[in-house]
Amino acid sequence: MRATRALIHLGNLKNNIIEIKKCLKPETKMCVAVKADAYGHGAVPCARAALEAGADYLSVATYEEGVVLRNAGIASPILMLSLCSPDEVEEVVSAGITPFVFDEEYIELFSSACKKLGIKKFEVHLAVDTGMGRIGCLPSEAGNIALKIKNCGNLVLGGTATHFALSDCVSEKGKSYTKFQFENFLEAINNIKSVGINPGICHCANSATTLDSPDMHLDMVRPGIIVYGYYADEVSKEYLVSKGKNVELKPVMTLESCVSSIRKFEKGKFAGYGCRWEAKSDTNVGVVPIGYADGWFRRFSECGVKVAVNGKNYPICGRICMDQCMIDLGADCTAKRWDKAVLFGDSSDGALQTADDIAHLTGTISYEITCGISKRVPRVFVQ
Ligand SMILES: *Cc1c(COP(=O)(O)O)cnc(C)c1O
Repeated sequence: MRATRALIHLGNLKNNIIEIKKCLKPETKMCVAVKADAYGHGAVPCARAALEAGADYLSVATYEEGVVLRNAGIASPILMLSLCSPDEVEEVVSAGITPFVFDEEYIELFSSACKKLGIKKFEVHLAVDTGMGRIGCLPSEAGNIALKIKNCGNLVLGGTATHFALSDCVSEKGKSYTKFQFENFLEAINNIKSVGINPGICHCANSATTLDSPDMHLDMVRPGIIVYGYYADEVSKEYLVSKGKNVELKPVMTLESCVSSIRKFEKGKFAGYGCRWEAKSDTNVGVVPIGYADGWFRRFSECGVKVAVNGKNYPICGRICMDQCMIDLGADCTAKRWDKAVLFGDSSDGALQTADDIAHLTGTISYEITCGISKRVPRVFVQ
């Protein structure tokens, strides 16, 4: 196997779920997001570990992601958070995947598919747009849409949901917008009840809200990134500790590789495309067989992202290539050829930076770093 690999610590994932559960009332359900191949960690093993640790629901973005779980024998409820195309609707119904619906046309597609397949009772969740501006009906329309679902005869409203736009911002603006959205959501739920329909399981809390706002948990929470060991942007560990809401999350993914070559460089020798790095003095340059085709992106070059070897961080020389990058091991190089190189992850694997550290250096969020690790990198699952 390639030395470049992603270790996936399923034990850490379970630890994170148990930590998250400590913030919930015993009756609150948990829907773990395993969309995008479990944020790059590997959907099936992560889904199984999440269910073993006490998750009740899983969520995916696409129909194919749901089918991958079903084909692996996973029987838990699966919410499909994004919209599928009309030609996927029958397959969603046959796979028993629960869609978010919110308009007449889409509801009709599911009802017709159920009729065709002879399914008498199919669960859907109603998505409400309370301010995210992505999918959902307006809170004022929720009662009417719930009636439309009921009048189909073969659809059942199993739940009602919304999604927050600013819950990971701790500013006054962020807090008050989330509160505004939450109140809109409560209004939508009341509108559904007032037409005599049970809204089912009500859920709105993503990772940030799960940790920061217990009053918004309702019947179920929908954490994603915290399950994989990263805090949601500004709802950071420091912020939560300052609020007395500490949870101990551990990164699930460690990205590692090796030093595949070490060569002496005399002062003035260049390394990499564009000759953007030049040895300022005599040194040793190591090659690490990971590049942007692995998700070790070119924009991680020249911005302070480092590579750890034997407990020491080394700077990347110039630009990251497609399949390799070079690191400056210094004149008094202690690293040996084939030593392990650690890109990010759990400190117990020798990582000296996290996906969050890289995200801060490169202007993104940890989600994009772990999701970006490409298929070429084998995932090695460890308990
Ligand atoms: C991805 C997603 C989540 C989980 O978000 P995190 O910020 O990772 O917790 C929850 N709900 C919906 C609708 C999502 O799309």
